[in-house]
Amino acid sequence: MLTGMQIAVIGGDARQLEIIRKLTERDAKLSLIGFEQLDHAFTGATKEKIDELDFSVQDALILPVPGTNLTGQVETIFSSEKVILTEDMLKKLPPHAVIYSGISNKYLDEITKKANRRLVQLFERDDVAIYNSIPTVEGTIMMVIQHTDFTIHGSKIAVLGLGRVGVTVARTFHALGAKVMVGARKSEHLARITEMGHTPFHLNDIETAVKDIDICINTIPHPIVTAAVISKMPAHTLIIDLASKPGGTDFRYAEKRGIKALLAPGLPGIVAPKTAGQILAKVLIKLLSEDMRNRKES
Ligand code: NAP
Repeated sequence: MLTGMQIAVIGGDARQLEIIRKLTERDAKLSLIGFEQLDHAFTGATKEKIDELDFSVQDALILPVPGTNLTGQVETIFSSEKVILTEDMLKKLPPHAVIYSGISNKYLDEITKKANRRLVQLFERDDVAIYNSIPTVEGTIMMVIQHTDFTIHGSKIAVLGLGRVGVTVARTFHALGAKVMVGARKSEHLARITEMGHTPFHLNDIETAVKDIDICINTIPHPIVTAAVISKMPAHTLIIDLASKPGGTDFRYAEKRGIKALLAPGLPGIVAPKTAGQILAKVLIKLLSEDMRNRKES
């Protein structure tokens, strides 16, 4: 239980609703910022405006998955209010307060550092990233179906990267009957790709590997699908770039060549917000309970 904990949930999309529901079930007291257009009311949660929030009593702040943008603005799907998180606000938090987000950026890193408060990026955790890869891949399948006129079964797919998302992409498309090639740079990854029953290629050989593919799914957050690579792809190739913004694809060149290339951020929140929210809520409850226990013991 989270009885006695005061938590501010600031902004976010439908994933946050699941988090709010689970935290109120655990008896946490919530202040909801950026939810005034939400019809639903949660027992134990009060809708407030950011300038009304008493930061000095908060044990934790929960931000949406992207955290803030580079000017401090927090995405608020359920509000027209502009919510900006500042260093001064964080300085008002009690020293033990923790800020939770999915990922971070230069702005959020800087204000938490200057305010000397702890920032936890949930997506840095392997468990969250692996669970989250499931709705990500379901969303990828949806996009592939929407943007092709051929079946996934029998198509040739190049997956770039064998991280937490890449493994799930490769395995799922293989199970759907695609001929899956996976590009990586580490010899242990190339060995694992072979063990999984896919065709491995070293990323140094990417230009040769993409010569007769139908679909390219990138998971590498680095410019990897360059103009030189795109120039070798067949004209009908569909590129789905899953890597975090700005992706790893030269979208300008793809457009020039007439190759469809789509950056597909935030798929879990689009295709399965309830599941994606439950994944985050489960880990948050674990971390908040640990925080509460540690504070009681110290
Ligand atoms: P990850 O586990 O860190 O995997 C990243 C992969 O990229 C690894 O195979 C890594 O290989 C490779 N890589 C990184 N930098 C590279 C470089 N410079 N050259 C070659 N390979 C490089 O990350 P993840 O959890 O799979 O997530 C992958 C991306 O998808 C991230 O950008 C994440 O934010 C994004 N994502 C998007 C969605 C969505 O809805 N679109 C959902 C979840 C995650 P090494 O081990 O060799 O470094």
